[in-house]
Amino acid sequence: MKILISGAGIAGPTLAYWLLRYGHEPTLVEHASNLRTGGYVIDFWGAGYDIAGKMGLTPHLRDIGYFVEEVRFVDGEGRRSGGFSAEVFSEATRDRYVSLRRGDLASAIYGTIDGKVEAVFGDSIAAIEETPEGVDVSFARSAPRRFDLVIGADGLHSRVRELAFGPQDRFEDYLGYKVAAFEVPGYRPRDELVYVMYTEVGRQVARFAMRGDNTLILFVYIDEDRQMPADVDDQKAAIAARFADGAWECGPILAALDAADSLYFDRVSQIRMDGWHSDRVALAGDAAFCASLLAGEGSALAMIAAYVLAGELHRADDDHVAAFSRYEALMRPFILEKQKAARGFAGAFAPSSELGLFLRNQISKMLGIPFIAHLAIGRGLRDNIALPDYEADAA
Ligand SMILES: Cc1cc2nc3c(=O)[nH]c(=O)nc-3n(C[C@H](O)[C@H](O)[C@H](O)COP(=O)(O)OP(=O)(O)OC[C@H]3O[C@@H](n4cnc5c(N)ncnc54)[C@H](O)[C@@H]3O)c2cc1C
Repeated sequence: MKILISGAGIAGPTLAYWLLRYGHEPTLVEHASNLRTGGYVIDFWGAGYDIAGKMGLTPHLRDIGYFVEEVRFVDGEGRRSGGFSAEVFSEATRDRYVSLRRGDLASAIYGTIDGKVEAVFGDSIAAIEETPEGVDVSFARSAPRRFDLVIGADGLHSRVRELAFGPQDRFEDYLGYKVAAFEVPGYRPRDELVYVMYTEVGRQVARFAMRGDNTLILFVYIDEDRQMPADVDDQKAAIAARFADGAWECGPILAALDAADSLYFDRVSQIRMDGWHSDRVALAGDAAFCASLLAGEGSALAMIAAYVLAGELHRADDDHVAAFSRYEALMRPFILEKQKAARGFAGAFAPSSELGLFLRNQISKMLGIPFIAHLAIGRGLRDNIALPDYEADAA
């Protein structure tokens, strides 16, 4: 089948890889003019990690990734106030765990299909019309074309979702936080392989030392207003207003933000839909079910969805209606569980009251005890999904 995939992030290229492997003809359309790099650092583990393994990617991901040793909470003076050894991550996942830039994961996945799959950068779907024979697609720039199926893998603000299922507002559950990330060269101090976090009521700022003398800075803060600042300057101003009176390293971090030439900024939201497909259009990854950064696993979930969607199409012998239904039946309970866990975790990021902050700090101290860390964190790292072995049927 000729299958158009909107979005060359994590889900899109993973889907293209498996579709190609099963003998289909995928085409990627990505609205950015090239592959998005940098951004923020993600933790990558579990069933998504296993899929990366099936794609032959894990040695490379482990080479370019980081093995975090400690998650450290600090007070306003920079003194350690809680945290835990990151060994709990590798032990709970049987060493299937690595942290890396989201953009590096995206390029590694893209590398598996580069030159083998048609990819149109700098373009976007403008309209979709489903007919019994196929989907007629018009683009912002390219000439209209017909495909057998269209898959939206275009993230939290999915265009395909909007065109095929309805406006963003209908499906987006804003969790009340804004998130921003940027990289700064030459920042001091550095704490190698330590994720350092400073939290006050309603706001958190963290730093992680990267290779090449770069440091990743991540802000998360409560914001009742779901509106997004209009442009990067307004985004910087919104963050500065929120953190200007913050202790710890807020001063130098805001100075670095002021000079930064790129910034990731978004709402922390989940996407909740009753269904992820129509007759010939389906969604995968954040476009379908964004669990938010609070799940700490969105990239892996995006890869799992792509793998299952391609596999079910293959297994159903191209009966796309049956395949879409089975894809959803297999994924939905797993995703709902992840979304629920993520919502429950929200208060731990930036507690909304002094009491919440106090409790979180007490818990964080207890996490220093390995047994408690395993109980509290290890459980959340389990993926309750049995990945079907579509490989057995592969061409
Ligand atoms: C701060 C932060 C921290 C996170 N931490 C983690 C973590 O620790 N672990 C983890 O696994 N996940 C984490 N995530 C989540 C993870 O990044 C996402 O879940 C994941 O990137 C989803 O992949 P995706 O392919 O569905 O969407 P995306 O990666 O968002 O890719 C979507 C692609 O579609 C493109 N696109 C958008 N609109 C259009 C359009 N109209 N036409 C064509 N293309 C379009 C975009 O440019 C992009 O390339 C984090 C997220 C954030 C924000």
